[in-house]
Amino acid sequence: MAVLEKLVIANRGEIALRILRACHSMGIKTVAVHSTVDRNLKHVALADEAVCIGPAAGTDSYLNIPAIIAATEVTDAVAVHPGYGFLAENADFAERVQQSGFIFIGPRPETIRLMGDKVSAIKAMKDAGVPCVPGSDGALGNDMAENLAIARRIGYPVIIKAAAGGGGRGMRVVYTEAHLSNALQMTRQEAQTTFGDGTVYMEKFLENPRHVEVQVMADEHGNAIHLGERDCSTQRRHQKVIEEAPAPGITPQQRAEIGGVCVQACKRIAYRGAGTFEFLYDGGCFYFIEMNTRIQVEHPVSELITGVDLIKEQIRVAAGETLSYTQDDIVIRGHAIECRINAEDPETFMPCPGTVDGFHAPGGPGIRVDSHVYDSYKVPPNYDSMIGKVIAHGEDREMAIARMRMALDETVLNGIKTNIPLHKWLLLDPGFLKGGFNIHYLEKRLTDRASE
Ligand code: ADP
Repeated sequence: MAVLEKLVIANRGEIALRILRACHSMGIKTVAVHSTVDRNLKHVALADEAVCIGPAAGTDSYLNIPAIIAATEVTDAVAVHPGYGFLAENADFAERVQQSGFIFIGPRPETIRLMGDKVSAIKAMKDAGVPCVPGSDGALGNDMAENLAIARRIGYPVIIKAAAGGGGRGMRVVYTEAHLSNALQMTRQEAQTTFGDGTVYMEKFLENPRHVEVQVMADEHGNAIHLGERDCSTQRRHQKVIEEAPAPGITPQQRAEIGGVCVQACKRIAYRGAGTFEFLYDGGCFYFIEMNTRIQVEHPVSELITGVDLIKEQIRVAAGETLSYTQDDIVIRGHAIECRINAEDPETFMPCPGTVDGFHAPGGPGIRVDSHVYDSYKVPPNYDSMIGKVIAHGEDREMAIARMRMALDETVLNGIKTNIPLHKWLLLDPGFLKGGFNIHYLEKRLTDRASE
């Protein structure tokens, strides 16, 4: 007996296909809800049923809550998986799904709300014993003298961040006292216009940290485990480009320690489902910055080193089952690396939608391709430019990288521009090969390259 009868996939692209694969492997029927331009998506063709929920614009389709609820009702589905992006971290959506009598594949709406506001998230995590970046301990008020005193206590440089921020937006670094007032005002205004919430807070700006995050999974019976960490320091404009697991140089003892802290925090807030604790890692210490209450783009690297199907586990625990694993069952094997493939110009990074004219996916030992792309597929201009992920696994980092290089060389993806040349260049870069670099590394190398 499947844990659920039928599930609505409230997303598109590669993650929709990934969710469909998990469902069908579990004997769960699927409903694809899609926009008008997405009629020909791979998962729409493979789903048991498909419902068009609106025009191309995300606001009219993948963010259209009444349309998604209606599609769930008319198809007699019992659960909704939000994927990542779109409504995945929208507490109101999770609440509406539940109030309509369906299962939301994710944490409780209260948890999403708590973690969606970075000020309340940091407070909750601090209370749960998670190490945080030294900061303002709450939202900043209008008293400039007080704000100056907070910054002086933390020590410059500081970073002003929007409580409701996301996607690397709504942040401003301040190096000297003279610029604090202005920066604060601007970030507040920007936060208000972009996120509809002008609440801001302050943190110490760590100058050369690595981005290391911990994957967790919890059920509603009080069990929680961690699945090790991922290093996502290869970033451009705060956006991840390559992710890997485990993080180079992190010892099993450090892993057990920080993983244990995250597990305790999950138990403390009665967390349910998959989640990620994001940390900046600097000088051998972890500093919590935020928690993502959903499955992440980079989840496959954790799957490959642990052998756990995270989406399957998400669905199981949302249906009320207990976790299939205890902490002792989680054994890390080898190394995995993921390259995000974007339809973009590899030099200017401008999105390049268009029609794929010739496609061949790589394969062989240790290679996994999560992508909805096929020959003659038309990449629409309406959504994120990511069109898939190539993930390589090997007994060590060197082998994972060697396999990734072969995989990218084998890939044929014509008709549109992609960032594959950027990945190939990075995979030969001496600093990248060494590993353990900080979050500025890629941008620094791109600047060097431009002046070479
Ligand atoms: P978002 O939700 O927009 O992704 P995060 O809080 O996760 O915002 O931060 C995104 C990125 O911004 C981090 O990966 C890091 O590169 C940078 N960043 C955030 N806070 C700090 C900080 N205190 N010091 C240095 N860099 C930071």
